[in-house]
Amino acid sequence: MAAAAVLAFFLITAPSSPSTEHPTTWRVLVVNGGDVSLPAISRQEQALRVRLTDLAGGRVEFRSEALDAVSFDLANYESEVVALMRRKHEGSHFDLVMPLGNMALDFAERHRSELWPGVPIVFFSVGQDSTRGRRFGPGVTGVMIAFDVKGTLDLAVRMQPSARRVVTVVGAAAYDRSWRPELDAALRSHPELQVTSLGEGPLAVTLRDLAAVPAGSIVLYTSISRDGAGQPFVPANVAEDLARVSPAPIYAAVETFLGRGIVGGSITSFEAQGDRAAEIAYRVLSGEQPETIGVQPPPPSVAMVDWRQLHKWGLSEGALPEPSRIFFRPPSLWREYRWYVVGAVAILSVQTGLIVALLAQRRRRRRAEHEALRQRAELAHASRLSVVGELTASIAHEINQPLGAILSYAEAAEMLLEDAPGLENVRHILAEVRHEDLRASDVISHVRSLAHKGTPEVLPVDVNDVARDVLHLARHDAIRRGIELEAHISENLPIVQGDRIQLQQVVLNLVLNGMEAMSDTAVARSITIATAGNHGGVQIAVADTGPGIDPTALPRLFDSFFTTKKEGMGLGLSIARTIVEAHDGRIWAENNEGGGATFRIELPAAGRAEGVTGCT
Ligand code: ADP
Repeated sequence: MAAAAVLAFFLITAPSSPSTEHPTTWRVLVVNGGDVSLPAISRQEQALRVRLTDLAGGRVEFRSEALDAVSFDLANYESEVVALMRRKHEGSHFDLVMPLGNMALDFAERHRSELWPGVPIVFFSVGQDSTRGRRFGPGVTGVMIAFDVKGTLDLAVRMQPSARRVVTVVGAAAYDRSWRPELDAALRSHPELQVTSLGEGPLAVTLRDLAAVPAGSIVLYTSISRDGAGQPFVPANVAEDLARVSPAPIYAAVETFLGRGIVGGSITSFEAQGDRAAEIAYRVLSGEQPETIGVQPPPPSVAMVDWRQLHKWGLSEGALPEPSRIFFRPPSLWREYRWYVVGAVAILSVQTGLIVALLAQRRRRRRAEHEALRQRAELAHASRLSVVGELTASIAHEINQPLGAILSYAEAAEMLLEDAPGLENVRHILAEVRHEDLRASDVISHVRSLAHKGTPEVLPVDVNDVARDVLHLARHDAIRRGIELEAHISENLPIVQGDRIQLQQVVLNLVLNGMEAMSDTAVARSITIATAGNHGGVQIAVADTGPGIDPTALPRLFDSFFTTKKEGMGLGLSIARTIVEAHDGRIWAENNEGGGATFRIELPAAGRAEGVTGCT
């Protein structure tokens, strides 16, 4: 007998698989104490299976037994269950037995020598309070579970700091009542709350009473697996019933109640429980002594809440403790598709940038096209105006002579008829002719002033500066043509009032004409620009040593389009005259005695020049 006991002890404590590299598949029996269809139970077993299979590299085989000891009184049929299991497991070998829940652990310890002698036990989901101070047999270890009722009530108070009442809902089953000690301890830690207890009666009564509690209360639900009328229920389903009628937010410490209408609680994860059990199981299967591993404390609880309930009750997310987990938050586009959103925004930004750049470029091009068109039109208009202006000036000039002649004839006729009696009418007609002639002259001079360039820059100008400028501008051309170009500058000349550029243009035109005129002259080719005072004004003379001007051409020299050159336009001198006359001056040409031509410009003085010095 003693030998058998020693042998049994040896068998119990001996590791079933001494090597970590197990050659065969491990066989694990999970013994469920409760209803395997309950979400809480199935979630833990599922987590265990997944994690242990993973750790064992797939070489693990599971079997499951269910005692259903929560819904039924196991004592009534325990011997039959044992007999059935012995029969079922005959010839089978298990490497590990894993009771899930308090009742399964009690059952396994009671019958292990009979059913699974020598097989180590790793339990899980066993309540911490119910095993406090308990001594486990040899070869037994596992992980505890704890439902944080106090933490859940603390969370509720955090979320509803102004709440004055807590309504507890606890069912009538032994399992439901097993929550009592923890619940009472939690309530004691919040003496400021008035307590209303519900759940002892039929569920219908509980629901009716709950519907009548004051809004703003805290409802703390633990479990109703059977009501006061003896009716069994799935506790998670009851959570949904309670939430339907409750005028106040409901809190609970059970993970599987989340999503069924409760706000949340300080919750231990069932998956974490299954994972922890799998890790211990793996160590035992790998050869570690269960005793050296020791019973593991419960995995920590953390605040878990249903986002939809927070919103329904107007509870602030900011009141949640750290850390906490929020479930059922509607997925935002950003949360779900962050990188797609980032990518799309980036692509859109680039695209938008390109579009904006292209639009801007198109606008700039259009503006440039418009500007070019406008300038072309302006140019055409300006050139038309210039031609019209020249023509007008020329015509006006032409008409001035006959008008002058008419005036002279009219005056002469008036004088002749002065003493002739009976010719009053003729004298009157002549007076009218003279009057109309003068009026026509006025109109002509008005038109001529209009033909001048619109806004010449009228400033004090030193004609010596003009002469020097032209000398400078024409010097290279003169050298190229082999012409001597010089200036005779008289100092202290009066200043004239005018547009320096226009005057330059006039003198330069005269110099260029002189150069062109000398193109066939063989010797002594020279051009002289001379400035001098003249009748209180100034004179600029441009003299050349060319062939001179044909006397027949002299009267028409300043006419528009008068030219003797093949490529000539006949506008240069005409424009020169217009400019000079706009400066209240005059321009004329004469042939020199020794050959060549001299063009002279006379301009009225505007004042005395200061600091004008020497010649070039
Ligand atoms: P273009 O030279 O383009 O024909 P201009 O009005 O500048 O027109 O001159 C008109 C004409 O006056 C010239 O064709 C030329 O016959 C004559 N002319 C101008 N300057 C001189 C000059 N220095 N010597 C001789 N003839 C000249």
